[in-house]
Amino acid sequence: MSFTLHGLAVSGGIAIGRAHLMSHATLEVSHLVIAPRLIDKEVARFDAAVARVREEFAALKGRVQNTPAEFGAFIDLHTMILADPELAETPKQLIRERRCNAEWALVQQMETLVAQFERFDDQYLRERSYDVRQVVERVIKELVGQPGRMALRTGKGVKEENLIVVAHDLSPADVIAYKEHRFAAFVTDVGGATSHTAILARSLRIPAVLGLLIARQLIRDDEVLIVDGTRGVLIVNPDPRVLDEYRLRKSQIELERSKLRRLKTALSSTLDGVDIDLHANIELPGDVANALDGGAEGIGLFRTEFIFLDRGDMPTEEEQFEAYRTVVKGMAGRPVTIRTFDLGYDKDLHPEKVQGDRMQSNPALGLRAIRLSLAEPKMFHTQLRAILRASKYGKIKLLIPMLSQAYEIDQTLLAIERAKASLRAERVGFDEAIAVGAMIEIPAAALAVNLFLRRLNFLSIGTNDLIQYTLAIDRSDEQVSHLYDPLHPAVLMLIAHTIASAEKVSIPVSICGELAGDPNLTRLLLGMGLRQFSMHPAQILSVKQRIMQSNCSELAPIVRRMLRYEEPARIREQLEKLNALN
Ligand code: PEP
Ligand code: MG
Repeated sequence: MSFTLHGLAVSGGIAIGRAHLMSHATLEVSHLVIAPRLIDKEVARFDAAVARVREEFAALKGRVQNTPAEFGAFIDLHTMILADPELAETPKQLIRERRCNAEWALVQQMETLVAQFERFDDQYLRERSYDVRQVVERVIKELVGQPGRMALRTGKGVKEENLIVVAHDLSPADVIAYKEHRFAAFVTDVGGATSHTAILARSLRIPAVLGLLIARQLIRDDEVLIVDGTRGVLIVNPDPRVLDEYRLRKSQIELERSKLRRLKTALSSTLDGVDIDLHANIELPGDVANALDGGAEGIGLFRTEFIFLDRGDMPTEEEQFEAYRTVVKGMAGRPVTIRTFDLGYDKDLHPEKVQGDRMQSNPALGLRAIRLSLAEPKMFHTQLRAILRASKYGKIKLLIPMLSQAYEIDQTLLAIERAKASLRAERVGFDEAIAVGAMIEIPAAALAVNLFLRRLNFLSIGTNDLIQYTLAIDRSDEQVSHLYDPLHPAVLMLIAHTIASAEKVSIPVSICGELAGDPNLTRLLLGMGLRQFSMHPAQILSVKQRIMQSNCSELAPIVRRMLRYEEPARIREQLEKLNALN
């Protein structure tokens, strides 16, 4: 059966390949013996997880009303499997009788059931073992809590380039692990368009669609898929006519990309001669090659926390120094903006530990980024020393994430001074005049931007978080992604205010959020006065093309008028006109 699913377009391009379902590594669960006094608690934990999955299925059922009837039937089937006493009750007996933990009990029972299904002669019934596994996976995930790492398994002789990863959810750490692979595309059920998972998808330069809700439940291993990462469409088992059409579209996109490559060495300046800096966002030292290949004139954002996100412990000063030096040397004299760790929220070294030690009910508003660094002075000192040491090898700028208060800036500057003093005492060389800047990604920071301008050397607007906090929309949550609106008048006002305030006192300001890499917004940002953009390397040439076709003096008055509009329809209409200017 051929069918189409719609999700969030997060990484452009078209991929055609076979489905490769990621099973959650949690099926390889830990085997624990439960103390007799904790048995009731373990049974209750199991019941609670089953109840949560039941609720999740009910919610999904409500949300698939406008999709073909088969989708509803799948959910019904999975709800039935979940309600079956063989799955909902027998594991509790195992917990009581064999004193095993809930996960282990469930997996044991699953194996028994799967073996029974696989003995059926009827193919339809045999295939139901697959559904049992999927339902068990969902419950295990609830039991384990925080999403863990996905198990990567590719069969012998299967070319990764032909595989399309289908997962319920991928953590940033999972996607980082994919950098060592060459999958054709990936799709997931959950995730927002500017989630870190989405950002990493773009850095893999493969098409990706997130927020497909139930793709993982509907798709079978090895089915033929088309992923249209530009439109957010996934076609399962396409008919030959559709396949031909997409093959054609794929080659057209490749042709357009190769034409764009001619701009690589062109100057990025507007028709009226205004020079614009186009920098790259990177996550790993290995991304430098992509940045240079994309024509970046510098690194505008190095998200350092990704260096070790998939290794689970803190890197030493030496390891960090090597990573930073590699980037600086790789960029050969071009500026490199290194952001200190932005850990917390969806990027944690030890998700289970953090959850256990200090339950965070709202991690996006919790101890993340600079707040965590200031709370862990040893970790911060180590990182600052490593960055300062690397500053001897090129032009490094130090960027601090998530600052909101004046005293946080002052504490940070003090910490930098301390790190410098320790290096001086050891006679280790570094750039004494290293520039220090702040990410403006909290509305309070944008509104009180003068506090920042008085204390720091540069600003970089992190629109991904700025939009999240201004609109109170979790950037990782696909359920509210339709409300995540970069063109909301409040967002535009904060960006414009930050740019204009910095310009008044001649402090450089850039945007390093995803918005900077959207060519549809380039003219709007130029009209606001933005002269430095930092984005994913793959976007640089499209944005450069738009810059070369624009005239700053013509854009500024139009954008000034546009910023007075509050009606979204008016703003969009004006943006279209702006983009249509010759
Ligand atoms: C941002 O918030 O816009 C940003 C660039 O930082 P990150 O996406 O890493 O949170
Ligand atoms: Mg941010």
